[in-house]
Amino acid sequence: MNSIEMLKTLVGFPTVSRDSNLPLIDFVDEWLGKHGVNAVQVPNDEGTKANLYATIGPAVEGGVVLSGHTDVVPIDGQPWNTNPFELTQKHNKLYGRGTCDMKGFSAIALSLVPEMKSLRKPIHLALSYDEEIGCLGAPSLIDQIKERIPKPEAVIVGEPSMMEAVTAHKGIGAFRTVVTGYEAHSSQTHRGVSAVMNAAKLINWLSERETRFRDATPTNNGFLPHHTTVHSGVVHGGTALNIISRQCEFLWDVRVIPGGNAISVFEEFQAFCQEVILPKMQAVHQDSDIQTTILADTPPLQEVADSPALKLAQDLAGNTVHSRVAYAAEAGQFQEAGFPTVICGPGSIDQAHQPNEFISIDQMEQAEQFLRKLIQRLS
Ligand SMILES: [Zn+2]
Repeated sequence: MNSIEMLKTLVGFPTVSRDSNLPLIDFVDEWLGKHGVNAVQVPNDEGTKANLYATIGPAVEGGVVLSGHTDVVPIDGQPWNTNPFELTQKHNKLYGRGTCDMKGFSAIALSLVPEMKSLRKPIHLALSYDEEIGCLGAPSLIDQIKERIPKPEAVIVGEPSMMEAVTAHKGIGAFRTVVTGYEAHSSQTHRGVSAVMNAAKLINWLSERETRFRDATPTNNGFLPHHTTVHSGVVHGGTALNIISRQCEFLWDVRVIPGGNAISVFEEFQAFCQEVILPKMQAVHQDSDIQTTILADTPPLQEVADSPALKLAQDLAGNTVHSRVAYAAEAGQFQEAGFPTVICGPGSIDQAHQPNEFISIDQMEQAEQFLRKLIQRLS
């Protein structure tokens, strides 16, 4: 199976994060088994999803981990011109959900397994679930890699980077806030506590917090935007125009530059809730409440001087460029576990999460060449 056929197979599994990825994982497990490679599945608590890792070649130190996530973002409401879960080639582009983010990289790595026959040092494959909803699957995968495989030289995370090494990415904290007020007729604002109106004050605080980050951060740090961002993407609240709303819930995230900490923003937010907003709500009705849950907290990837992972990626890509990216990825988690880590993968982040997501055949070929060089180097 060549890399495009493999990509067609992987895209055919609709592994949206909210759904199971097990059919894809079982397929990969079976594919590796056919080529004499034993894979290990690391399931989630409910048994509905799994990570998978496998070592190809001898179990010795100095190998390289190729990391990819198996989940994709939803297609709901997006105007696609083709079936998102059926790989469609038009001219030199391959369309389908996950083609660039990031089944392309995984497809190439898997299609090259038959060529990994005479490795002196191992290639480890590491495929995760739930990356797109806060890198939730990777920790259990990384724990097992740390415990069970001989120390690798580097981890290459194949997120779309146009095959250029990425040495730093932002971290992400994700949060859910539920505001509980007290219902009354909307003409009686002195009696009710509006969850919607108070949520608006909290969201406004988030917006102003981002402005303070923007103003306090040097602009030439390689990130675009250059500062930690704070954003609310979903709000649900209220039941009718003329009822003071009892409940409002919103989701928000903090994407921190290296050195920053999403949890410290959460703590500032909590203090604002407890000290400024909640006392005023409770003065009207004592049952008023504000609860915030941490959904995810993923570390940034920090740039490291003389990183062996960066050197490796540049050697394989045949260039000396490197950059920093604003999106979050699993690279920071691998680094936090002690592995030299770099991002380098085919396709552009500009196409990720979009309708009509695609990867160019040229990018597929460049990545294939990159991984063939890696096989040569480790053989
Ligand atoms: Zn991705």
